Amino acid sequence: MKQTLDWQVASIKDIKPETATVKSFTLTLPAWMRHRAGQHYDIRLTAEDGYQAQRSYSIASEPEREGEVDLTVERINDGEVSTYMHEVLLPGDRIEARGPIGGYFVWEAAMAEPLLLIAGGSGVVPLMSMIRHRAAAGARNPTCLLYSSRNFEDIIYYNELEKLRATNGGLQIFHTLTRSQPSGWKGYARRIDPEMLKEVAQPLGKSVQVFICGPTLLVEGVANALVKIGIKSDQIRTERFGPTGG
Ligand SMILES: Cc1cc2nc3c(=O)[nH]c(=O)nc-3n(C[C@H](O)[C@H](O)[C@H](O)COP(=O)(O)OP(=O)(O)OC[C@H]3O[C@@H](n4cnc5c(N)ncnc54)[C@H](O)[C@@H]3O)c2cc1C
Repeated sequence: MKQTLDWQVASIKDIKPETATVKSFTLTLPAWMRHRAGQHYDIRLTAEDGYQAQRSYSIASEPEREGEVDLTVERINDGEVSTYMHEVLLPGDRIEARGPIGGYFVWEAAMAEPLLLIAGGSGVVPLMSMIRHRAAAGARNPTCLLYSSRNFEDIIYYNELEKLRATNGGLQIFHTLTRSQPSGWKGYARRIDPEMLKEVAQPLGKSVQVFICGPTLLVEGVANALVKIGIKSDQIRTERFGPTGG
């Protein structure tokens, strides 16, 4: 039987630009297994001389989609694996992958508690899998995404999130733009802070389940601030993507 830690050769079915520095890759997997929203795949590259590089990428798609997964990758300047994926991979190419991996940072539509999802940059990827899963499963638990991006153009999945907000009962989306804001911007315009967290978290009540994902500093700052405003640490799950978020 196929194990999630076995490597398999995935085919790149499609590549879709999301922003100037972010692309989504649809991988067709010969030994696909249903994932839980929040899990990731490992990707491994092997050079001709045998040198290997391996990185983790969260699954962006909902578990209901069979046979394939979407990974959404931000190109990190000088990054070994992300620049290869952005600049070299083409539809039809093959790439080694293993997964789905992870059992802690996961959300299932059967979990009925209110949900607070907090993302910085590409940290929105596993949270998007949760939002897509919530929509596909027809869940109606109150859900709020607080998403921090540098500029409006850097927001990943903006149009899809707007559509889901309009069509999915109980889904609220708050953006904060930390560097520049378009004229007439009505969202937040600063880094996530305790006051902002109070505004978005308190309406969700005491049983809220929280998932935070993004650059290490953002994740740690937000988790500490949530504890200070009275959310118990066992209601908070975190996933750290990397050093700074670029
Ligand atoms: C569980 C998990 C899930 C992840 N999911 C995603 C995802 O869905 N999408 C995604 O784009 N990334 C994701 N990441 C980050 C990803 O695994 C890589 O770290 C990232 O793509 C950089 O790899 P690289 O080989 O391009 O850069 P490297 O060659 O590893 O690094 C190049 C330079 O960039 C710095 N750096 C490394 N990682 C980051 C980072 N994340 N942010 C900013 N600077 C960095 C390094 O310190 C170094 O200076 C995830 C990480 C984890 C642990």
